Order: sequence, then structure tokens, then C-alpha cells
Amino acid sequence: MTNSLRGFRDILPPDSELFARIEAAARVVFGLYGYQELRIPTLEQKELFVKSTGDTTDIVEKEMYAFTDGGGREVALRPEGTPGVVRAYIQNNLAQTGRNGKYFYLGSMFRAERPQAGRYREFTQIGAEYIGNPAPAADAESISMLVRFLEKAGVAECSVVINSLGCAECRKAYREILLGFLRGKAEKLCEPCRGRIERNPLRALDCKTDGPWLTSEAPKRALCPACETHFSGTQRLLSAAAVAYQVNTSLVRGLDYYTGTVFEVRSGALGSQDAVCGGGRYDDLVKSMGGPAAPAIGWAVGLDRMAMLLKDKPAPDTAPRAFVIAAAKEAGDRAFALLTALRADGISADFSNFELSLKSQMRSAGKSGAAFALLIGEDELKAGTAAVKPMKEGGEQFTVPLAEAPVKIKELLRGI
Ligand SMILES: [Zn+2]
Ligand SMILES: [Zn+2]
Repeated sequence: MTNSLRGFRDILPPDSELFARIEAAARVVFGLYGYQELRIPTLEQKELFVKSTGDTTDIVEKEMYAFTDGGGREVALRPEGTPGVVRAYIQNNLAQTGRNGKYFYLGSMFRAERPQAGRYREFTQIGAEYIGNPAPAADAESISMLVRFLEKAGVAECSVVINSLGCAECRKAYREILLGFLRGKAEKLCEPCRGRIERNPLRALDCKTDGPWLTSEAPKRALCPACETHFSGTQRLLSAAAVAYQVNTSLVRGLDYYTGTVFEVRSGALGSQDAVCGGGRYDDLVKSMGGPAAPAIGWAVGLDRMAMLLKDKPAPDTAPRAFVIAAAKEAGDRAFALLTALRADGISADFSNFELSLKSQMRSAGKSGAAFALLIGEDELKAGTAAVKPMKEGGEQFTVPLAEAPVKIKELLRGI
């Protein structure tokens, strides 16, 4: 038999139900905030990610699923959603034709890193981007929508950690100060950081090895007055939106395109400092990719990680409400019509194989978790009725005219 590729997995029930529940929560919450769905391709030109995500990021340096296709084109499976959204925004002229610049996406992302526990080469992300609004209210709205979505999906004890990386000007000034400091400490840095400080010194703050000691020793970032005003405005509005947050000036986030506000959401339920998800402002990305000057902010959440957090929560009951059984050879057609009638009335209903024995069909009914079995045998066939058997122990069996079966079942379900 041919197995799935290493690092690629099947999401089976009940996990698939959990994913669907998270996606449903996302759609409800995003709708309240005026976001519309954008469906973007899975495969793009490799160049798109090199130019946007950044060639000094781990994602592009080590983890991108890139290859040359049959036509000799350099392509890559998307490692994240933002570059594709921005490309679509520019290519389709959404600055002119779009409603409000608010988009969300949902789907598979790919990273060719070594598969390990809980990390897959194909994983699902939900992300939201707000393009075209430079005001602190856009930051606060984006972050508070993320928190409301996580809460709606059932992630407990969410807290937000925010920082501002400053504008291009602030960053340039800080970059020089930090670079000077790091050059002097080069022998203390891990190898990847040492190799990259000249190109991207900020990344060292984000490094798992060096981040902790740099947080206390490295010079702190300073913001220009405009960035300071924006950052304090964002904080005021987060408070107004009743979002709990903390400022952490060493929070960097590992993507090259972030400017201004960056943030992470952590969950107390995770029992660690690990972020559930994060995002930030990318005011220069749209323009640098050939689009209009359109400041933007966005974030992405990994569903696999969220699903892990929610695994222990009681799953919604997906068992059918009714299970239809043909208890006589000729009853199959009638039973199938009853099944159809129940579903048409909004009652989830299932069956196994009408040609099998009554005992076998009853066993399947028990396994399905259905609340009621509806049987059509010889007597019922003649009388135009169905026998209703509550699957709970001690339930009394009774007979109901076929046409009234859906109404009766609904009535009984309300009582459960
Ligand atoms: Zn600034
Ligand atoms: Zn390092």
C-alpha cells in the first residue's frame, strides 16, 4: 500500500470536527468585524516569498517548500499567507475595488522542515489582514478580533504581549546601535546569528539561544515621537476594547516585513510561555511589492496548535439523532424514503445496510450513538407506520404513522 508522505497527515474525526468548529468560530467573529474571505493559490512564484517574507528568515532560508516545476519555473508552496494576500491585493487592484481592505484566509501552508512531534510539513492556518488603515484603531481592532476569535473557539486565559518595532527611521537608528553592540559580542552569539547580524541584527533578539541574554544586556529600542504616539494610542484602544495586554520591548517576531506594532497571544492553558499565535504591522510591504502605499496589519493562527489546546474540551455531539432499520426484506425502499424525510426535516439520520439481519442493523444503530432507532418490519410496512425505539436503556418502544415520524422525533429530541 502507498502511505502518506512523511510530515503530511490525515486529520481524522473527531479532530476534523474540532478543526471545523474552529473555522466556524472564525467565520462568525470575522463577520462581526467586516472581514471578507480571500481565497489565494497554494502555489506561487518562489520569488514572492523571498522578496516579502525575507531571505534572512528561517522560513525562507531553511524551511520553504520550493522546487522547479516541469516547465522550469521556480515555485514554492506557500509557507505563510500574507505574501499571497498582498500580491492578490495589488494584482486585483483591491485598493480601488475592495470594500474596506479587511481580508481573512484559511487553508494549508507548507514548510519543509524536519517533521517532529506536533509539527507537520503541511499545516492549516487562519489569518486576517487589514490593509490601508494606518491608525492605531486598526491595530487595536485587529488584535481584539484575534482575542475574541480565540475565546469564541474555546482557547482559555488569553493574554496579549505587544511591542513596537518602530517605523523605518526608528528601525534604522536602532539597527545601527544594536549592530555595534552585537559586533562587540560576536563570540557569544550562536553560529546562525553570527552569520546574519550584518544583514539582520534584529533577528538575534528573536533567537532561541541568544534571545534570553540579549533581552537583559542589549540596548533597548527607542521610538520616534510619531511611533511613540501610535504605540500609546494602540494601548489605550486595547484597554477600551477590554483586551488584557502587556508590553515587552524585546518581542521581535521573526519576519522581515514587520514595522511598528508586533504582538503575540499566549494562553495560560498551554502552561508555558509559548505563543499561540502572533502578528504585526507591515506598513511598507505593499509598496515594496509594487503596490500603492498601503500600511497594513495582520496575524495568523496555526489550527493544529489550537486544536491541541482544545483537544480536552468536550467535543460537540456529532452522532446521528435517528437510525433507520429495515426489519423485513421488502422494507428497504420504505426505510430509505423515511431516512430522506427525516433529513429533509433537519434531523440527522443514518443507516447501515438494509439487507443485513435486524440484529446486525441494531448493532450498527448502537455503535452510531443515535438517540432513536426507527424500524420498519412487515407489520409497519402493512400499516404505513414505523416503530420508534429509544436507544437509551429502559426506553419504551412505540409506533407512529410514517408521515408523522419526523415531527414526533423532533418533539422527543427537544425533551432530551
Ligand atoms: Zn518611528
Ligand atoms: Zn542566536
